[in-house]
Amino acid sequence: MNELIMIKYGELTTKKDNRKFFVKTLTDNIEKMLADENIKIIKNNVRMYIYCEKAGKIIPKLTKVFGIHSIVVAYKVNNNIEDVLKKSLEIMDKNKETFKVVTNRADKTFKTSSMEYSSNLGALILKNSNYKVDVHHPDITLHVEIRTDGTYVYTEEIKGAGGYPVGVQGKGLLMLSGGIDSPVAGYLALKRGVNIECLYFESPPHTSIEAKNKVLTLARILNEYSGKIKVHVVPFTKIQEEIYKNCAPNYMITIMRRMMYRIAEKYAKKINAHAIFNGESIGQVASQTLDSMVCVNNVTNMPVIRPVACFDKLEIIALAEKIGTYETSILPYEDCCTIFVPKHPVIKPTLENCLLNETKLDYEKLIDEAIDNIEVISNFEKPKYEDLL
Ligand code: ATP
Ligand code: MG
Repeated sequence: MNELIMIKYGELTTKKDNRKFFVKTLTDNIEKMLADENIKIIKNNVRMYIYCEKAGKIIPKLTKVFGIHSIVVAYKVNNNIEDVLKKSLEIMDKNKETFKVVTNRADKTFKTSSMEYSSNLGALILKNSNYKVDVHHPDITLHVEIRTDGTYVYTEEIKGAGGYPVGVQGKGLLMLSGGIDSPVAGYLALKRGVNIECLYFESPPHTSIEAKNKVLTLARILNEYSGKIKVHVVPFTKIQEEIYKNCAPNYMITIMRRMMYRIAEKYAKKINAHAIFNGESIGQVASQTLDSMVCVNNVTNMPVIRPVACFDKLEIIALAEKIGTYETSILPYEDCCTIFVPKHPVIKPTLENCLLNETKLDYEKLIDEAIDNIEVISNFEKPKYEDLL
């Protein structure tokens, strides 16, 4: 293991009391993501060092781990300035002309100040090469970090995923459909450190196996940012058919969503999740007007977090493309929301009418039955589901 990656932590450095817990969670997450690689991790409260065989192979995986501010391929030498100079000249891009040195001196027992060290090393580089100094717009910024165990030099810094390590905020239950919005909502929740598990409502035979596989594919893509995703599949057919039989057509969607929320809340408590997440966006469709949200939200006391509530569709699409879910989301398979769709769903539902429509439903029993029959999927091997799409 002769290559070294240095990790700079994201926002967690500001959370002093929790720092240890954050760093431990981040380390666990990285170990999980790199389970197939031969690596050795050394960490402290400000930096993590990953020793590996081929940095280029593991960096793409690291760019999906939340809680990382930046990733650096670093070179460690001893604290002797001659050795630092030699390594610096080796790693500086030969095709570039100008440089500056930025020194960070974590080892405060080191006698020279950071400024002095930068100028001493800069002078040595000038003497031993054709580079010129440009402190404002250098082609190369040579970073030098002097620590008690040695000096680390690097020139390239790769942007990390940012956010908090997945898991530091506990668990959330994401209502994951096959659409564009909910995977993006899941990504944003993961980014804040929420350990997401997914709930998918399926209505066979009205919805197909392809529709389910599409959701599982989306979950697999989200799992690249998490490593801990599970999908809980709720059998929703009977509930939808009962709604179809017993409720006014224009209220069918509102009642269906109230049933989804009831199930989500009850099941979230069962799996120890503290909030429900979904991909609702204000005004996107009739069931997502503020009036509709009031009626649907009324069935639960649990926080319902809608990460894309205030995003335009085009903004959501841009994020979906960035995280790699868009291509799958636009595959044309039906969702349980798209069957039994009335011609004119109510845009301004009232709570009173919701309750009236639900009088004929024995919904507690229906909910318990659905929850008892939930299927849990936690293994997202690529060929298994995607070959079927
Ligand atoms: P689209 O991109 O087409 O809007 P969507 O996934 O947002 O897709 P909506 O009908 O707008 O679908 O539903 C709003 C939200 O309700 C979804 O983002 C999702 O969180 C949740 N939802 C809808 N259908 C399902 C389902 N079958 N299983 C789980 N959650 C669902
Ligand atoms: Mg939507």
